[in-house]
Amino acid sequence: MRKALFPGSFDPFTLGHAAIVEDGLRLFDHIIVGIGVNSEKHGMLSIENRRRLVEDLYAGEPRISVDIYEGLTGEFCRRAGAGFLLRGMRNTVDYEYERNMMLMNQKLFPEITTVLLFTPPQYVAVSSSMIRELVQYGGDLSGLMPHNINIKDYL
Ligand code: ADP
Repeated sequence: MRKALFPGSFDPFTLGHAAIVEDGLRLFDHIIVGIGVNSEKHGMLSIENRRRLVEDLYAGEPRISVDIYEGLTGEFCRRAGAGFLLRGMRNTVDYEYERNMMLMNQKLFPEITTVLLFTPPQYVAVSSSMIRELVQYGGDLSGLMPHNINIKDYL
């Protein structure tokens, strides 16, 4: 079985993330959305609510699961029995960052392959940080968040 880990902060999970998962399902039998705990970063959503949001979104989709992890992403990937690290790329800034991560992970975890997928054009400007700002000032989130998710249920 081809299993991939899609790791990130997902604060919150956006339509851009969903597009990567959807595309990833063409390549992989199972995708674990891995929510990484960063003790230094206090996010908008609690870790538990980030998980709940993704679980609600993919309820009834057995090929997608959600997990929370601490520590190195590659170690969690190994523990979860996933051979692939799935990431999304919006632009050259993402590219540079993702390439450095890939090089480090390749050195530390040679059995894990990083797969970088392009973001569909309609989501290149979507980011969790933009959504956090819109939530703070009461902006319209349509076209940024999955339509069946109301962020207020997770704040
Ligand atoms: P991280 O803090 O690890 O970058 P994020 O939750 O911001 O976590 O992102 C997780 C992954 O999703 C990263 O590979 C990131 O490049 C990708 N990503 C973020 N926003 C988008 C988007 N709009 N479209 C596609 N991929 C995205």
